[in-house]
Amino acid sequence: MLTVTRLTLREIRLPLKEPFRTSTGTVTDRRVLLVQLDEIDGAVGWGECVALAAPDYWPETIDTAWLMIRDWIGPRVLGRTFEGPEDVSAVLAHGIRGHAMARAAVEMAMWELAARIKRVPLATLLGGTREKVAAGIVLGIQESAEALANRARAAVDEGYRRIKLKIKPGVDIQSVRAVFAAVGPNVPLTVDANCAYTLDDASHLAKLDEFGLQLIEQPLAWDDLVRHAELQQQIRTPICLDESITGADRVEDMIRLGSGRIVNLKPGRVGGFSESLAIHALCVEKDVPLWCGGMLETGIGRAHNVALASMPGFTLAGDLSPSARYWLEDIVEPEWTMDDEGFVGVPLGEAGMGVTVRMDRVEGLTVRHETLTA
Ligand code: MG
Repeated sequence: MLTVTRLTLREIRLPLKEPFRTSTGTVTDRRVLLVQLDEIDGAVGWGECVALAAPDYWPETIDTAWLMIRDWIGPRVLGRTFEGPEDVSAVLAHGIRGHAMARAAVEMAMWELAARIKRVPLATLLGGTREKVAAGIVLGIQESAEALANRARAAVDEGYRRIKLKIKPGVDIQSVRAVFAAVGPNVPLTVDANCAYTLDDASHLAKLDEFGLQLIEQPLAWDDLVRHAELQQQIRTPICLDESITGADRVEDMIRLGSGRIVNLKPGRVGGFSESLAIHALCVEKDVPLWCGGMLETGIGRAHNVALASMPGFTLAGDLSPSARYWLEDIVEPEWTMDDEGFVGVPLGEAGMGVTVRMDRVEGLTVRHETLTA
């Protein structure tokens, strides 16, 4: 049984070690919305909203999510008793269109809370089977192809099991060629366009085929499936959808239409863990490769992603870098680390998400907070 009596929203600002550049913009300071749930008997659960400050990846922002949680989503969980966390998603989705990131922040915190109450690791509660998960690095757009190639080589030396490059028109083929030359054909290489191309670019994108990329992520519009299907017929590189995947139904559409062959699952983008479990089951059933994407999360969001990625259907390395990749200092302890073979351990020795929130540090970084009560 889960009964939450207090929900605290907090915005923290965490400076990135270095600016992160994609086809849609640059992030230097990460504004993060954290959700803390207090259960009737004193247990605490944590969630992290993955919405960014700007609506340039996804329609939601951390400000819209704050409003939605305060006015619509928080009141639905406060004071209400749930049998288990698997019942939360439907209650939050009923009569609310969209706002998946706001819903996920609360839903995932409910799973974390449930794991603590049951005294099991979050990974175990979700059905995870792995003790460690493979980490890939994401390299933002750099000043030159040479600089990018150097970064890629360094990442391989650190142990990363996959290199992902952000690309955009004008910064694509040359970058991939330089990195391919630097790391060789045995390192899984992927590119992520974040919707920067149109179908008119099909013949240009086909030039990427010669590099044997593991996948190209979301080349076309964030809500498109039809044109992606046309593009997939014109290029050999498997298309992986990220922004377009809003839930299991959209994965089914992707498979039926042939819009892509691989899924990037971000639990914080599909409404939370229950929907993620449905997507996982579908991908396993249909033999669709699956991996866990990242949203520049702090150690809390990372904990949720690592727990999910420990499930057996996550067959490709995810965006699961250690804390030190993005932050000078994380907000959890222990910080997330990666071994020299590129694996991040799943914390199976502790109940819940397996890391402790450093409250002193969170308080120090907080720029606003609001507590809702039952
Ligand atoms: Mg992506």
